[in-house]
Amino acid sequence: MDNMTNDSCKKCGSPLLGRIDKQFCDAYCRNAFNNNVKRTEEKEIIAINSKLRKNRRILKTLSPVGKSTVRKEVMIAMGYDFNIFSSMYRASKNNIYYLCYEYGFSPIVNSRGVEKAVIINKQSYMGDWKPWKYVHA
Ligand SMILES: [Zn+2]
Repeated sequence: MDNMTNDSCKKCGSPLLGRIDKQFCDAYCRNAFNNNVKRTEEKEIIAINSKLRKNRRILKTLSPVGKSTVRKEVMIAMGYDFNIFSSMYRASKNNIYYLCYEYGFSPIVNSRGVEKAVIINKQSYMGDWKPWKYVHA
């Protein structure tokens, strides 16, 4: 499907005549196809933005005054999605904050295996993540 010598329109499937690199029969098919690609991409963006907002709302609800400790299960019960965050902050080797806009949490595991999270408000010094700093060959 992705080669450069299509013999049929990528939108409607009609046979293509003319230039060998032609992909659509006309501007209508080209626009319709590209709009559909945009719509699909837009759906993904909207879905992630909505999860991010929901995570932020949960963190705000659980920590209205700056800092609190909650059980992981509470976050799960409220629908928190741990795969979605807007940035990260690494305070130390075992202390990483996952931020959703201006709220964030850091996972805690204690010796009894109890999994909790410290929820915080994002601080100004937390905005400087360096992706290459933590990768080693
Ligand atoms: Zn067409």
